[in-house]
Amino acid sequence: MKGLCYMGTKGDIRLQEIPKPKILEPTDIIGKTVVTTICGSDLHVVDGALPYINETAKKSGRGVVLGHEGVVRVEEIGSAVKTVKPGDVVIVSCISSCGSCYNCKRGQTAHCLKCKDYAGWSKGCACILGAAMDGTQAEYVRVPLADSSVYKCPKGIPVESLLMLSDILPTSYELGVLDGNVTEGSTVAVVGCGPIGLSAILGAKSKNPKNIIAVDLDDSRLEVAKKLGANYTVNSGKQDVKEFISKNVKNGVDDLPGVDTAIECCGLPVTLELCERLIGVGGTIANVGVHVKPATLFIDDLWIKNFKLTGGLVNTTSTSELLEKVKRVY
Ligand SMILES: [Zn+2]
Ligand SMILES: [Zn+2]
Repeated sequence: MKGLCYMGTKGDIRLQEIPKPKILEPTDIIGKTVVTTICGSDLHVVDGALPYINETAKKSGRGVVLGHEGVVRVEEIGSAVKTVKPGDVVIVSCISSCGSCYNCKRGQTAHCLKCKDYAGWSKGCACILGAAMDGTQAEYVRVPLADSSVYKCPKGIPVESLLMLSDILPTSYELGVLDGNVTEGSTVAVVGCGPIGLSAILGAKSKNPKNIIAVDLDDSRLEVAKKLGANYTVNSGKQDVKEFISKNVKNGVDDLPGVDTAIECCGLPVTLELCERLIGVGGTIANVGVHVKPATLFIDDLWIKNFKLTGGLVNTTSTSELLEKVKRVY
């Protein structure tokens, strides 16, 4: 079969012939890929920014198959798999988790202890597909810990839409909207309107905030942000975002001193630092972006604001809730 492999050195990816995966653990399934996609995270991998993944890819001799997002048709199941059977079409979650260890039981499935021996994004995190083991950008994929890591696809919904539930929708919803405490009537700034930022806007809409301000450097992305529900758009390359917000955005008070939630969707120091400037008293900076460089925390300005800073790796504990929301659209 063909698989798109990252070879372990910056920029070296190859579409090559590799062996079809086999069941290795009783909790595995083998799925035939129906649709898959790329993630911003894959770009960090290909850029050589993750030393653990470089190591895994080099050690294997033929690289590691990229990708942790996909919809697959189940072809074979391990002897312990109970929730799916051959023929089922399932969403593969970007997080592989057992559902029963200490971390899984307290909702920290991104750090499932069953994955602790894998070297993925960091030693022990549970985003192991396309990192510690072969991922979804191949004709077939072995999905570990299947019972708690895949979701059956409901009939009548395009697989391309369901594919968004692998990672992008839960990531933006859990880390941006839920951790960011987006509530009815609040004001939210979404910094970075790539796919994650646009998904954060969709997720934020479901909480009925008063204002959603979309921030990006690209006007075409801002157009899409508007279509998906942003009330205001600001091109941060052309105008000062904080000034724009205080001049133009009202929240039932005369002057808006800062937003309630600033959702960081780029993973860059400059965008996190912008979020720090944008929040008001009691505000939350919700970091969604994957950072590979340090950023400055302006604690001398922030400390008095009773602010919160949240961040992490998606637990995908909202996938079922989001699946219900998607079903209601169709
Ligand atoms: Zn992803
Ligand atoms: Zn676990």
